[in-house]
Amino acid sequence: MNLSKLYTQVLARGRGAALGAALVASVALSAPQPAQALTIVLNFVNATTTDRFGVTSGPESFASWGFTGGGIDYIRNAVLASVRADYLNYPNASQDPLSPLPAGKELNINFTFSNGVTGPGNGDPDFFYMNIGDASPNVGFLGQACLGCVRGPSGTSSVPAGTIFGSTLTDTISGLLSLAGNDTQRLNLLAGTSAHEIGHALGLEHPPGQAPNPGQSLWSIMATGASPSLMPNAERVKDRAFSYGEFQTLINNIGLRDVAPIPEPSTYLLLALGLVALAWRTQAARRQP
Ligand SMILES: [Zn+2]
Repeated sequence: MNLSKLYTQVLARGRGAALGAALVASVALSAPQPAQALTIVLNFVNATTTDRFGVTSGPESFASWGFTGGGIDYIRNAVLASVRADYLNYPNASQDPLSPLPAGKELNINFTFSNGVTGPGNGDPDFFYMNIGDASPNVGFLGQACLGCVRGPSGTSSVPAGTIFGSTLTDTISGLLSLAGNDTQRLNLLAGTSAHEIGHALGLEHPPGQAPNPGQSLWSIMATGASPSLMPNAERVKDRAFSYGEFQTLINNIGLRDVAPIPEPSTYLLLALGLVALAWRTQAARRQP
């Protein structure tokens, strides 16, 4: 339904100005944020693709992973939603007193996914790729990324836009699938690795063991199975979070923006139904003798 057309119709009838003004205000509030943020593109590689450290991976179908909720589109969208939530749904200080994130603020970063090096799709010129693919033959690690090359302590990038700064390697991650009993846990194995590698590119290192955090595990997203973190692999199926200290570093390196109020789709539907009812009543009133 075209809301602006409805709005015009209502105003043309000379009625419903207050409701129309409310609708305009709502649409203005929900306008997309300017395309000016850093964007990380989760590149589900569509062909053999090599990252800046020379690790090559090819397309992964996830056919053997045991996901029951849907096919590859479901998996890609779920990974994107999970990684985005790790960075953009972090509890703020009014929700969690230990959080370094002020209420009303979020990291100035966006996430999209692609199927090939096709750009971010959202107009942001400042974008970087994280490859997600099957290394075959196996290279022996879950993923890799540069340290601070996308955002370092100075808040700047040391590599050009469009750089493939790392890889999430599905053939190694699939070796942990026996630890996962459902789609959520399978997703945590995969998206947790991507969020971890992206964290490296944003300046985060491995923590020395457990670290206070708001997630499901005593270990943070940046923990690793090797020294110094010594995280058991069973923790990887949990929905881990950045530690409060790690998130402070992300704030320092990326910066913050205001959280944009985004009405739910149901809000649009209610507004539209209200306008339709108003237009109908106006029409009916004119038919009165
Ligand atoms: Zn790491």
